[in-house]
Amino acid sequence: MSLLEEAGAVLSEHALCKRCLGRLFGGLSGGMSNLERGEAILTTLTLSVCKDVLDGKEGSTKLARKLAAQFGVAPLEDLLVGRGQRPVRRIRRSCEICKGGLEDIEALAQRIVEDLSGYEFRTFQVGTIVPAEIERKEDKIRSRFGLRYSESIRSEFSREVGKILERTVPGKRYSPRPDIRIELNPYSGDVRFFSKKLLVEGEAKILDDGAAVFAKVCPVCRGKGCEECGHTGKEKGDSFEFVLGSKLMSLAGGKRWRFGMKRLGEDRIRFRMSLIRPEKKSLPIEDLLKDANSVLEKRFVLADVKLSH
Ligand SMILES: [Zn+2]
Ligand SMILES: [Zn+2]
Repeated sequence: MSLLEEAGAVLSEHALCKRCLGRLFGGLSGGMSNLERGEAILTTLTLSVCKDVLDGKEGSTKLARKLAAQFGVAPLEDLLVGRGQRPVRRIRRSCEICKGGLEDIEALAQRIVEDLSGYEFRTFQVGTIVPAEIERKEDKIRSRFGLRYSESIRSEFSREVGKILERTVPGKRYSPRPDIRIELNPYSGDVRFFSKKLLVEGEAKILDDGAAVFAKVCPVCRGKGCEECGHTGKEKGDSFEFVLGSKLMSLAGGKRWRFGMKRLGEDRIRFRMSLIRPEKKSLPIEDLLKDANSVLEKRFVLADVKLSH
C-alpha cells in the first residue's frame, strides 16, 4: 500500500490528532516534527481525496466526509456540499491514541523547567511512562495496518520535552550519559529527577572512644524517611554519620545518604558517604568541613575530605 492509502485506511477507522497521524509514519524523512509530518500527510491526502471524489472513485466520498468531520478541512466540505451532499458536522472527539495529551506538552515542559531550577546540571535525558492502555491502542493500530515506520508515543514525549528544555534553558543539552535523568508521566503529571550521586570520602580522627560513628535507623519510619527524621531515614542524634549526612543534605539537597567506614587503627576511620539524588554538585567543601567539625568537636575531627560525582 502507498503511504496515502495507509493514512486513508487508518483515518477512515480512527479519530487521530495530526501529531499521532504524523508519528505513525515517523520513521520516514527526518528533519520535521510529527505535527509537521501529520499536516503534510493530511494536506496531500486531502488533495488525493478531492481528485478521487471528482473522478467518482468508490468510497472516496465516505473518506472525504471523515476527514472534513475530523479535521474541519474546508475545501473538502465545499466540494462535498457543491456535489449535493449534506453539510458535514464537525466531531470534537479527542485523539484515540494520545487522548489530547500531546497538546499539553509545552505546559508540561515549562513546569519541568521550573522544578529543575534548583538542580545543578549540564546534561540531561528524558524518559517517559504512559498508561498501558495508550501503548496498547497505539500498538493495535500499528499492527492492524502494518505500519512499519512508526515511532512510539513515549519517544515523542521524551524528544519533544527535551527539545523544549534545550530551547528554554540555555547551556543544557541532551546526553545518553546525563548528569540528571528526568522521568515523566504526562498523564498523571508525575515528574521525577534522578541526579548522579555525590560522593564524599575522607578520614576522621576519633577523639572520644565512646562517641557513636553510625546513626541509628529512624524508629518512626524505619528508614523510609518521615517528618520526624527530616526525611533522612536516620534517627536524629550526634553520631558522626548523622552530623555529616545532615550537613551534606542541607548543603546539596538530596533524598538519602549511604554511609560506610573502615577503621584505620585505634583512633582513625576512613569513610565514604554517597548522597542520593542531590540537587547541587559543586559544594563549598571548606564550609562543610568547618560546619561538621564544629558540631563534632571533642569527639571527631574530619580531615582530607574529597568530593566527587
Ligand atoms: Zn494524538
Ligand atoms: Zn523517619
